[in-house]
Amino acid sequence: MSSANETFDHIVIGGGSAGCVVAARLALAGRTVLMLEAGPADDDLFVRMPATFVRVIGTERTWGYRTVVQPHAAGRILHVPQGRTLGGGSSVNAMVYMRGTPADYDDWRDAGCPGWGWEDVLPVFVRAERNERLTGPLHGTEGLLHVSDPRHRHPLCRAFIAGARELGLPANDDFNGARQEGVGFYQTTTFRGRRDSTASSYLRAARDCQGLTVRTGAHVTRVLVEAGRATGVCWRAAGGREHIARAHSDLVLTAGALATPKLLQLSGIGPGEMLQRFGIPVVAALDGVGGNFHDHLEVGVYARARRANSLAGNDTGLRSYWHGARWLATRTGLLTSNVVECGGFADTSGSGRPDVQFHVLPVLVGDVDREAHAGHGLTINPCFLRPRSRGRVGLSDVDPMAPIDFDGGYLSEQEDVDTLVRGVRLARRILRTPAMQRLVGAEIEPSAAGEVDSAVLEAWVRARAKTVYHPAGTCRMGTDDRAVVDTRLRVRGVAGLRIADASVMPALPSGNTNAPTIMIAERCAQFVLSPDDAVALLRDPLSNGAGVSTGAGSSAALAAGGAPA
Ligand SMILES: Cc1cc2nc3c(=O)[nH]c(=O)nc-3n(C[C@H](O)[C@H](O)[C@H](O)COP(=O)(O)OP(=O)(O)OC[C@H]3O[C@@H](n4cnc5c(N)ncnc54)[C@H](O)[C@@H]3O)c2cc1C
Repeated sequence: MSSANETFDHIVIGGGSAGCVVAARLALAGRTVLMLEAGPADDDLFVRMPATFVRVIGTERTWGYRTVVQPHAAGRILHVPQGRTLGGGSSVNAMVYMRGTPADYDDWRDAGCPGWGWEDVLPVFVRAERNERLTGPLHGTEGLLHVSDPRHRHPLCRAFIAGARELGLPANDDFNGARQEGVGFYQTTTFRGRRDSTASSYLRAARDCQGLTVRTGAHVTRVLVEAGRATGVCWRAAGGREHIARAHSDLVLTAGALATPKLLQLSGIGPGEMLQRFGIPVVAALDGVGGNFHDHLEVGVYARARRANSLAGNDTGLRSYWHGARWLATRTGLLTSNVVECGGFADTSGSGRPDVQFHVLPVLVGDVDREAHAGHGLTINPCFLRPRSRGRVGLSDVDPMAPIDFDGGYLSEQEDVDTLVRGVRLARRILRTPAMQRLVGAEIEPSAAGEVDSAVLEAWVRARAKTVYHPAGTCRMGTDDRAVVDTRLRVRGVAGLRIADASVMPALPSGNTNAPTIMIAERCAQFVLSPDDAVALLRDPLSNGAGVSTGAGSSAALAAGGAPA
């Protein structure tokens, strides 16, 4: 073990969506910050080009999490890829910009998270956002995160929107506006035709801060806790060398909803019985660590295109060079597509609140565990918005490099299956509208037949549903005994340790999770800073895009990688 014993004001563990926000905000406020990211830098063309994110999944820039056998999902093992590079999920995701609805956050508040209702979080969403089109009280135009309209609008997506409107779903050009229901093109976290991750936005804004040190290839193996206070971390460099880093003040865990509970458990913070089973000394017995896992699931309804005009086949051969050259020269064309170009929200149960989201892709898409259907076509993925099923994340071994023991509990609640079945039925009706039929031919899955029995659809959903990559909730915020963090994101029973990633969500918001995670991280930075600093943060000198360097102390090594000398 190296005794380098570097000391900073703060250590941020994990350089993903949330980590880059927290590290940048603290550094911009003049603190010395070490951010440790297990994965490599984000300097990859396929990360920057919006359309090529699917090519990053399964590479060294993603973690390949797998569940144990899921009895309610036809006995399958489900694959849950997660970002493993600077920017984390925001560097590998589909870039859909979505906040969820006011009711989601009012539900958080009413479930034991005072201070997290819609009126509390809306100003944070607004401050973080730099929207190129939308303004007004619900949108920000001066934040760090670029939000843009799509530059590429595929005819198959236009047909989906037209078809859904024929069925009476309203058009919606702002899913983060006054009303979520409806169909339209998604706004994306892109800027002038390229991805905007929290690495390319927040971290970049803080690049001149002398107090910011970023290390990639730095796998944190344990949080050090002395006399009830978190004081530092052990981390392992890519070559295997062990290091210790220490912090005078708060450490912030942002390793994501699957790695954050694992790190707590490895550090002796978790369910006492499990820690004892692995011979890990109990630092804080917190039964809730790793519980309450939930995720959004979707299932692909596939249909053939009448013409060979889907996105398939554009990433190989001569055509790929043409698209690549066009993107490099003008940041226009097919490679600016985020692939999940359009979709919408529908209330399929009549509850008055959308319960299904559609992710629509103008291509027959595959995934890590399945080959794509051959040829040209369209994928409509209905997804449930407020899952009932709950799973858990635990340790399989005391070796920090060992995979987690991960039971997603997927589809264990019948209501989740029923919601997906209703979403599938609506997707199939949209496929059969005149607007769609002009461009789309035979349905491939679930069935080319007209009417399909509910029992058949249910069995198909259980056999085919897959993650939307939104794991959350495993270190839930709240005020009850099973809550892991309080409403200022402090780990209960351990001083100087906070969590700021998707694991603190008490329940998933009704939509995609990157923007909500960024909102949580923004708030965490505010909580960490002193009240005076928090006022300064609200004034936000970066709003105008100016770089601010107020840091003191250790040298910045932004995205430098490697171990300290
Ligand atoms: C393929 C994909 C598509 C998605 N599409 C969308 C979308 O279109 N819109 C949307 O809003 N959301 C989308 N999401 C979800 C969204 O990106 C995530 O919810 C969000 O990124 C979660 O942020 P986080 O900070 O909690 O975790 P992450 O961003 O995953 O960050 C965790 C970071 O910690 C690092 N880490 C883990 N363990 C360690 C360790 N031991 N030591 C050091 N570092 C560690 C990881 O490598 C990672 O970089 C998608 C996600 C994926 C994977």
